[in-house]
Amino acid sequence: MSLELDERQHAMLAEMGVRLFQPHSHPGRIDGTPPEPARQAPPKPALTAGGDVRRPQVVVPVVAQAARAPVQTAEGATSGVELMQWDALAQAVAQCRGCSLCNGRRNTVFGVGDRQADWLIVGEAPGENEDLQGEPFVGQAGLLLDNMLKALGLDRRQKVYIANVLKCRPPGNRNPEPQEVAQCEPFLRRQVELLQPRIILAMGRFAVQALLQSNEPIGKLRGKVHRYNEIPLVVTYHPAYLLRNLPDKAKAWADLCLALEVLQQSGG
Ligand code: SF4
Repeated sequence: MSLELDERQHAMLAEMGVRLFQPHSHPGRIDGTPPEPARQAPPKPALTAGGDVRRPQVVVPVVAQAARAPVQTAEGATSGVELMQWDALAQAVAQCRGCSLCNGRRNTVFGVGDRQADWLIVGEAPGENEDLQGEPFVGQAGLLLDNMLKALGLDRRQKVYIANVLKCRPPGNRNPEPQEVAQCEPFLRRQVELLQPRIILAMGRFAVQALLQSNEPIGKLRGKVHRYNEIPLVVTYHPAYLLRNLPDKAKAWADLCLALEVLQQSGG
């Protein structure tokens, strides 16, 4: 995969801890390490993670499609969701009292972005800032996600749609309970059906569990192309995790590159 990067994207990659080797236009590396000795240059610049000059490997597809979990509906909560259009779906979420998380929320967090987007990014659950603002991925984690998207030439409101597995904040930012995920899952499933994205990026353990029905750790699932209802899905770390584990930013960048390459191979 290759990307034509402008100065702003170079700066964002540097902020993410990603090294970039460009033999034609830059004598050294973006992080200030000494120039590489002369070598056989590839035809185009190669984006790298952690200084590795290999291109990300696309594995297409190596994982069986995730089984659909049976819909568990609470009366008046998620029944009929499968027929709803966007506005009705957003209203249903805003009024949902399908699980106990409705009791502590200040806002539901439906999702944000382009409803014609090729990219769907799925996070876990609203945190404090998201609950306050009613928007997913705000605060420092959101800023990091925005920078990662900008490095790919994307924007959270253009070409990208962002949603969480859970639409309401778990108290004290505790982990989601399985029954809460099961109860809320029809909303996300319907968002996917309406959006029909060409690539899904699942960020974090609970997004992966909800979409792939897998309890495998992220480290074992990333680097491959999975499927959710026939849609290619790439697994990566949650930005909040990356803020605490800076060396893994480069792995997340490699995951984004994989997702982009899958999209490009499908004609995007
Ligand atoms: S988390 Fe989902 S199922 Fe629970 S109340 Fe909120 S919208 Fe409804």
